[in-house]
Amino acid sequence: MRRFLFVLLLVCPFLSFNAQNQPWQGKFEPIDNLISPPNSYRTASGAPGKAYWQQRADYKIKVTLDEKNNMILGEEMITYHNNSPEDLSYLWLQLEQNVNKKGNEDFGSINNSMKDGMTSRQMQFLTRAMDFPAGYSIKYVKDGAGNNLKTLVNNTMMKVKLNNSLNSGESATLSIAWSYPITDRSLFLLSREGYEYFPEDDNTVYLIAHWFPRMAVYNDTEGWQNQQFQKLGEFALEFGNYDVEISVPEDHIVASTGTLLNSESVLTKTQLNRLKKAEKSFSKPVMVITKEEAIDNEKQKSKKLKTWKFRADNVRDFAFASSRKFLWDAQAVELPTNTVMAMSFYPKEGLPVWKEESTNAIKQALEVYSEATFDYPYPVCISVNTSNIGMEFPMISFNGGRPVNGKISDAAKQSMVGTIIHEVGHNWFPMIVSSDERKWMWMDEGLNTFLHQRTVAERYPDYSSVTPKTIVPFMTGDKSILRPIMTTSDNELFNQFGMNFYIKPTVGLQMLRNSIIGKELFDEAFKEYANRWKYKHPNPADLFRTLEDATAVDLDWFYRGWFFTTDNVDMELNNVKWFKVFEENTNIEDKNNSSAVKIAANEKGATEAQKDFSNGPEVINMMDTPDNAYGQFLSRIDEKEIRKELSSKNIYEVTIKNVGGLVMPVTIEWIFTDGTKEIDKLPAQIWRRNEHEVKKTFIKEKEVSKVNLDPNFEFADTNMSNNSFPKVQTKSDFERFKEDKSNP
Ligand SMILES: [Zn+2]
Repeated sequence: MRRFLFVLLLVCPFLSFNAQNQPWQGKFEPIDNLISPPNSYRTASGAPGKAYWQQRADYKIKVTLDEKNNMILGEEMITYHNNSPEDLSYLWLQLEQNVNKKGNEDFGSINNSMKDGMTSRQMQFLTRAMDFPAGYSIKYVKDGAGNNLKTLVNNTMMKVKLNNSLNSGESATLSIAWSYPITDRSLFLLSREGYEYFPEDDNTVYLIAHWFPRMAVYNDTEGWQNQQFQKLGEFALEFGNYDVEISVPEDHIVASTGTLLNSESVLTKTQLNRLKKAEKSFSKPVMVITKEEAIDNEKQKSKKLKTWKFRADNVRDFAFASSRKFLWDAQAVELPTNTVMAMSFYPKEGLPVWKEESTNAIKQALEVYSEATFDYPYPVCISVNTSNIGMEFPMISFNGGRPVNGKISDAAKQSMVGTIIHEVGHNWFPMIVSSDERKWMWMDEGLNTFLHQRTVAERYPDYSSVTPKTIVPFMTGDKSILRPIMTTSDNELFNQFGMNFYIKPTVGLQMLRNSIIGKELFDEAFKEYANRWKYKHPNPADLFRTLEDATAVDLDWFYRGWFFTTDNVDMELNNVKWFKVFEENTNIEDKNNSSAVKIAANEKGATEAQKDFSNGPEVINMMDTPDNAYGQFLSRIDEKEIRKELSSKNIYEVTIKNVGGLVMPVTIEWIFTDGTKEIDKLPAQIWRRNEHEVKKTFIKEKEVSKVNLDPNFEFADTNMSNNSFPKVQTKSDFERFKEDKSNP
C-alpha cells in the first residue's frame, strides 16, 4: 500500500445522512438467507447434486377432434416413474381445462372492475353473460390392472388415490378417458388455446393445448407442485416420451409437437415431395401447401376422419393445431449438431407477412439461442398463426399478428416477428431448462426475453429492442404497488407482470453481460446454467449460484437489489472538485506568495461549493513527509519525484450520491476542454463502506470541462438530470407544462 500525505487547505465537507439513507444497510452481504440452502440435490455451486432426482411421465394418447361439436375426446395411458426417494400413496394430475368452467375463470381476478363505458366483449370477460360449457368430463381413471381408481377433483387439480402405494424406484400406469368442450378463444381475455372461427368461409382454426390430464411435478423443492392454475402462472411439467394419435377431419392439416410418423398416409404425394425438397432448402422456405390449395381445402368440409401419428421424445408437454385453412411452408435450418425443419402454418388471413417472415424468424431464433445455450435438440420447430397472443409448447408455438386487408404496420410486423422469436425461444426456457412457471414466471420469461431481445438486436438491427432505458418508467412507478421480481407468478398485477417478469430480468441480465461481468464470462456462465439444467427443474438459487460459480464475480449485491427489492438506480453527481498541487518551493517562507494559482483560488473562496470549473483549481499544499510518518521504515520515498509527477496534473475529487437505493457500478465520462473524452469505470463495490455517498479522486493530464455519469445509459438510471457537472439546467415540470400549453 502506498500512502501520500496530502494536506488539504479545505474544510472537509460536512457529511450528512438522513434516517432512510443510513450509510450501511448490508447491501453487499450474502443472500444466503433469501434463497434456499444447498443440499445433496442442489449444490452450493448451483448445479444438480449427486442425489438429484426427477420424476418422469411417458404418454400414449389417442385423441379425436369433433369439429361438429367442438369437442376433444381422448384416452391416454401414462407410465409414471417414481424416481424420488419417497413412496407415494396418491398422485396429482393437472386438469387445466377446468379453469374455463364458470366461476373458475376469474379465480386469478385479472380485471374485475367496472368502468363508465364498457364494450360487450369486456362485459363478457367480466360477467360471462353468454355462458358456455367448459371443463373436463373424466370418464374413468384406471390403474395398470384395469381397476378403477378413486379420484378427487379440486378445481384444476385431480388427486388420484392409488390402490397400492407407488414405491420409490417403481413405475405405475394410469389409463384415463376424458372429454371437454373446446372454448371460443374470443370469449376470454387470456386464451392460450381453443378455437378461432372464421365466418367468411365457415372454418375453424383449432389450437389444442393443455388438453390432456398431465402429471403434476413432484420434486425435492415443492413435493407436489399442485398450486391451482389461475391463468397467469403457467405450467410445471415432467419430461417424457409421447406417442400421440390425432384423429381430425380428413381435410384438416395438423401441426404438432413431434415427428410425423405416418406422413405417407396423411399427406398427398405432392406435399410429400415438397417436404423432401424443403429438407434440402436452407436459404428459403418451400411452400408445402400454397394459398390456392388452402383456399380449395377450405371448401371441402369433409365429415370423415383421418389419424395423424406423432412421436416426441424427451418433451414436457404436447400441443397441436388443426384446420383446413392452413398454408404450410418449411425450410431446413442447420445447427452444428442438428438439422431442424422450421415450419409455419397460417390461414390465408396471415398473408403476405406470414409467408415472408414467420419461418425466417424461427431460423434466426434457432441460430442465436443454440449458440447462446445448446443446440436445439428436436426435429421440428413450428410457428402457427393465431388472432392474438403468443403461446409456447415444445416444438410448436401459437403466434399472433396478422395484416389488415393485406397490409401490416411496421410496428405490428416487428411485434409479430418478436412474438415468433420469443415463443420459439421458449423451447429452451422453460420447455427444456424446465423451471417452475407456476411459481416463478420470471425464470422462463425473463431469461427467454433476454435471448429474444438479443436475437432481435443481432438479427433485426432496424427493429427496436429492449435496453436498460426501457425499464425506467416502470422503475420509477408507484412504490406502493411495485413488487420485486422475486414475487410468485400469480401474486403479480396483470398490468405489470410484463415489465416485472419479462423486461426487468432482461435488463438485469443485459447489465450483467454488458457492464458488470463482461460478455465473454457472462456468456459462458449463462451457457453453463442452461447446460447444467437442461431437461431438469432449476430454481432461482440454482441460477444465482451458477452465474457466480462460473464467473468468480460476487453478484449477491446485484441479486439482492435487482431481484429482491423495488429500489431503482439513481446516481447523482453531487460535486466535482478540481485541485492542483502547489509545487512547493524550497524556500519555505515564500510558500504563501509564490503560487499565482493558489492566490487566485483563495480569492474566490475555495471553501464554497463550485457550480462549474470557471473558478480554476483549488490548491493543495504538498509537504515533505516527516520522518516520524515512516515509523520503523528506514527507507524514504522520493519526494521530488512524486512532486514532479503531480505538479502539472489536474486532480478531480468526485462526489456521487446514491439516490435510488440500488448500488451499481459507476461509469464516469470526462469531457476535456480540448473536446476529447475519457471513460473511467468503478465497480459496484465502491459503495461497500457507504451505500449512500462515495468520493473518488482521479488524476487527469488535461483540464476537464464536463463530467457525466452513466453516459451510455448502461444502468437504467432513472434520473439523468442529476448526472452531470456542471449541472444541466433542466426545466421544471411547471415550465414544461407552460410550454406545452403554448404549443398546441
Ligand atoms: Zn413468454
